[in-house]
Amino acid sequence: RSFATAGSSSNHIVGKYLGRPKANGKYSVTLVPGDGIGPEISKAVEEIYGAADVPVDFESVDVTPSLINGITTIPKPAVDSIYKNTVALKGPLATPIGKGHQSLNLTLRRTFGLFANVRPCRSVEGYETPYKDVDTVLIRENTEGEYSGIEHIIVPGVVQSIKLITKKASTRVIQYAFEFAKTSGRPKVLVVHKASIMKMSDGLFVQTAKEVGQQYPEIELGFELLDNTSLKLASNPGLFKDVVMVMPNLYGDILSDLSSGLIGGLGLTPSGNMGEKVAIFEAVHGSAPDIAGKGLANPTALLLSSCMMLQHMKLNKYGDKIQNAVLKTIASGPENRTRDLKGTASTEHFTRAVIDNL
Ligand code: NAD
Repeated sequence: RSFATAGSSSNHIVGKYLGRPKANGKYSVTLVPGDGIGPEISKAVEEIYGAADVPVDFESVDVTPSLINGITTIPKPAVDSIYKNTVALKGPLATPIGKGHQSLNLTLRRTFGLFANVRPCRSVEGYETPYKDVDTVLIRENTEGEYSGIEHIIVPGVVQSIKLITKKASTRVIQYAFEFAKTSGRPKVLVVHKASIMKMSDGLFVQTAKEVGQQYPEIELGFELLDNTSLKLASNPGLFKDVVMVMPNLYGDILSDLSSGLIGGLGLTPSGNMGEKVAIFEAVHGSAPDIAGKGLANPTALLLSSCMMLQHMKLNKYGDKIQNAVLKTIASGPENRTRDLKGTASTEHFTRAVIDNL
C-alpha cells in the first residue's frame, strides 16, 4: 500500500486540483519551508526531487503572519500562490504558547478550508519497534471541535473553552473518510468519539456518521469510544489494518501521535490536509527547536508527505520511486539513519543515501 489520499479524480469531494501545469511540462507547487528544522528538511526534499527528475517546480513562499484587526493573517502572496497552484508542501510552523499570533497551522487550515487531515502510519520495514505490521489510517476533522479557538475568561480563575461541532463540517469529513475507504480498499470506517460524555457535540458527530453511512452500503460502519481505541492501538494495532478511523479534531491530533509512536516516532509520519479547493501536505511533527540548525533532522516525514502529494497529483511513478528509496535507506542500517531512529547519519548523509537508492 502506498500513502495515497482519497481519489483525486474519482470522487466529487476532492477534485480537480493537481498542481498548476507550466509551459515547461512541469507542475508548479507552493513550498512553505517553515520554522526550526523546516528549511533543512525542505532542502532535502528539493535535492531528492531534483535527483529523481520529478516534474515539479517549487514556488517558495513566506507565511510570516501579521495581526490585522486582531486576526492572524497570512501574507497575500502566499495565499495567492497556494490558490493558484492548488497543491502545497509545508514545513512545520512554530506556534507561540499562551500569547501572540494564533497558530499559523490553524490559520492555514481555516483560510483554505482544509477540512480533512489524513494521517497514515505504517511500520517501516527494517526499523524495528515493539510493534510489527502497523498499518493505520486516521482522518481528523481539521477545522473546528476543540480547536475552534473560542475561549473566554468568565471570572478570574474560570475559563471557558468552546468545543464546536457542526453538522456541515462533520458531514464533509465523514464523507471524505468513506471515499478514502472506497479508494484505498479498506472495508470499514470506524468513528472514534466520546459521545458517552459529550452527548450533544460528539453525539452530533456520531449521528451524522450514521446518516452519511447510508450512502455507502458497501462500507461497514463502526463506532468506538476514544479510550477503548487508545487501549487497542497500544495493545494490538493490527486490529486497525482494514479500517479508516475518523474523529473530531483533538482526538485525531492525539491518537495520530500515538500511532506515530508505534512505528518509530514523529520523524516518520506524513499527512495531507485536504480541502475543496486546495490540498496542503506536511509532516505531523513540529519545528523541533531542540535540534534545529544542527543537521540532525530526519526529513522522512516531509518526504513521505511529498509522496502522498505526488500520488494525489497522479504522479505516482515519482511518489513510489521516492517512497521506495526512503524505505530502502532506512532499512539499510543505522549508518544511514538519523539519530531519532537510533542511527548516526546527518540530514545531509541521509539525503545522499536516498539519492543513491533512487
Ligand atoms: P516537535 O514535533 O517539534 O518535537 C518533538 C520531539 O520530536 C523533539 O524532541 C524533536 O527534536 C523531535 N522531532 C520532531 N521532528 C523530528 C524530525 N523530523 N527529526 C528528528 N527529530 C524530530 O514538537 P514540539 O517540540 O512540541 O513543538 C515545537 C514547535 O512546533 C511548537 O511551536 C509547536 O507549536 C510547533 N508544531 C507545529 C506543527 C506543524 O507545523 N504542523 C505540528 C506540531 C507542533
